[in-house]
Amino acid sequence: MRARKRIGLVAHDGRKQALAEWVKYNEGTLSRHDLWATGTTGGMLTDVCPSLSITRLKSGPLGGDQQLGAMIADGHLDVLIFFTDPMTSQPHDVDVKALMRLSTVYNIVLALTRSTADFVIHSPLFERGDYHPVRPDYAAYIRRQQDDDGGRK
Ligand code: PGA
Repeated sequence: MRARKRIGLVAHDGRKQALAEWVKYNEGTLSRHDLWATGTTGGMLTDVCPSLSITRLKSGPLGGDQQLGAMIADGHLDVLIFFTDPMTSQPHDVDVKALMRLSTVYNIVLALTRSTADFVIHSPLFERGDYHPVRPDYAAYIRRQQDDDGGRK
């Protein structure tokens, strides 16, 4: 993992204020990394921290979570900071679950709570380039899929 991390930032509405405070507090550190955010989260963070360069994706319920998921599947995201609201049901809950699932499939750094995010950003590994996360090996799974496909032809 390179020293300059590729970081996704997302917060449900009930947690946006908390993420804004967290990003403001960690603005200096975050400015040394590449940042993406879902639409509404990204707009709010840009208002709070205009100095940060944040690439805004679509709003979560309109596909932003899925866009982050695609980045993870393509190996283009190292860290996901996702402040979820455990007290409110989300219209796009399936997308949220899919995003969390892909984060675990590809073993990226995933922080769902502010405490975890604090631990992540203060980890000595956060700004180092010599950490090599285990990349799960799905070769056997892919081979099985290909065998199945071959059997159908
Ligand atoms: P939003 O999406 O940043 O557009 O509000 C967040 C989410 O995925 O819930």
